[in-house]
Amino acid sequence: MDCLPLFHKLQGRAVLLVGGGDKALRKARLVLDAGAVLRVIAPQISAQLQALVAQQGQCVLRAYQDSDMQAGCALVLAATGDVAINAQIARQAQARGIPVYAVGVPELSSVMFPAIVDRSPLVIAVSTAGHAPVLARLARAKIETVLPASYGRLATLAARFRDQVKAALPQVSARRVFWEKNLQGAVAEQVFAGREQQAEQLLAQAIESADTQVRGEVYLVGAGPGDADLLTFKALRLMQQADVVLYDRLVAPAILELCRRDALRLYVGKQASQHSVPQDQINQKLVELALQGHRVVRLKGGDPFIFGRGGEEIAQLAAQGIPFQVVPGITAASGCSAYAGIPLTHRDYAQSVRFVTGHRKDGELDLPWSELVSPMQTVVFYMGLGCLSDICQQLIAYGRDAQTPIAVVENGTTAEQRVFAGTLATINQQVSEFAVQSPSLIIVGEVVALRDQLNWFAGAFD
Ligand code: SAH
Repeated sequence: MDCLPLFHKLQGRAVLLVGGGDKALRKARLVLDAGAVLRVIAPQISAQLQALVAQQGQCVLRAYQDSDMQAGCALVLAATGDVAINAQIARQAQARGIPVYAVGVPELSSVMFPAIVDRSPLVIAVSTAGHAPVLARLARAKIETVLPASYGRLATLAARFRDQVKAALPQVSARRVFWEKNLQGAVAEQVFAGREQQAEQLLAQAIESADTQVRGEVYLVGAGPGDADLLTFKALRLMQQADVVLYDRLVAPAILELCRRDALRLYVGKQASQHSVPQDQINQKLVELALQGHRVVRLKGGDPFIFGRGGEEIAQLAAQGIPFQVVPGITAASGCSAYAGIPLTHRDYAQSVRFVTGHRKDGELDLPWSELVSPMQTVVFYMGLGCLSDICQQLIAYGRDAQTPIAVVENGTTAEQRVFAGTLATINQQVSEFAVQSPSLIIVGEVVALRDQLNWFAGAFD
């Protein structure tokens, strides 16, 4: 993060604004909205700015002097048309430790103005730390469209009931659940429809019937293969509610970022050979956390029920009577094949697709090879990179043509995705030449060759 967003309390505090033109006017509006007492200094001040400041502050019609910079000022804004003067004011403010924003001199400004979505008391600030202000404005416009204008009224209603809810529900997690439920259900709808009284009645009833104790729950959530845009809405909703998140190595950092900020994050990742947290301990941890009343997200790469050991985790939860939900995710085979331009089935080339694991058991690849060589079938190997040469040899030994197309997709669906396509006879060479790493998915079958026909598509992701 280049800058930390903090919200500035300016009610009744002195703000110095140097400048009398349009830029000064825009800043004046914002700080006056936040309740500041404004002192504007400039040889000429527009009539509009003078009228605005007349409500709360004063205008001084002369050039800025060094003595205007006074201690006790909460914020200095340099918005003259002259960048050199703005820079000088910024230096003086910085020397006194006063936060300053100087138009045209970002390097001397200690604060900057974000793009603002104002649903007071709900306020959203968007910044790119000055790197791409237009992007911040576009993001703001998007947020404006998804937040109903009456969100501010909803926040005010919540503020009125805050103490009452606190008294009725002393447990923090119970209050959190209460607000999550009521700020998006019937109460919110009444506010949006302008029926505040009905909203208040509903909220009062909800307080009476609210659960004072929260029961823990576990959500087994599929995080997809890497691209955060492949999450489901449900996954995102639960990730933003959970108090604790247990995640493993395959979960991309960008996805983890989408979890609630103050949720506790526990890494239980497993590397192929070194099991950092044994599975039974993960199962046990889930049970413990839920029994303590937490809402726990167990975030897993891809789909929890495809080579994800999700079944074992819920078996333990079910045995202990702990409520759980399973949220499917896009499995690596679907994600990688789509982003690599390889349809897994095709009327002419593959009428079935099979997902198998290439993980060795006691050093052996224990797979039904004779079934994996049937024609018109696509075979996808998860966890197979380490035994790619064995896989190719066995398939050939059991009768699959050495010229059968095969692809290895590394870091599928992410910005780092690499796709290597060849034949059972050649792929090993390519994979060692390009030092392909885990996670990688192996796709075998005629469908891999279709990738060339879909060149435009593959090109977009390579
Ligand atoms: N539950 C997961 C699979 C876990 S097994 C799912 O449904 O996708 C781990 C294996 O999945 C890895 O060894 C690799 O073969 C595959 N995999 C997962 N994410 C991948 C990715 N982004 N790119 C390529 N392969 C991936």
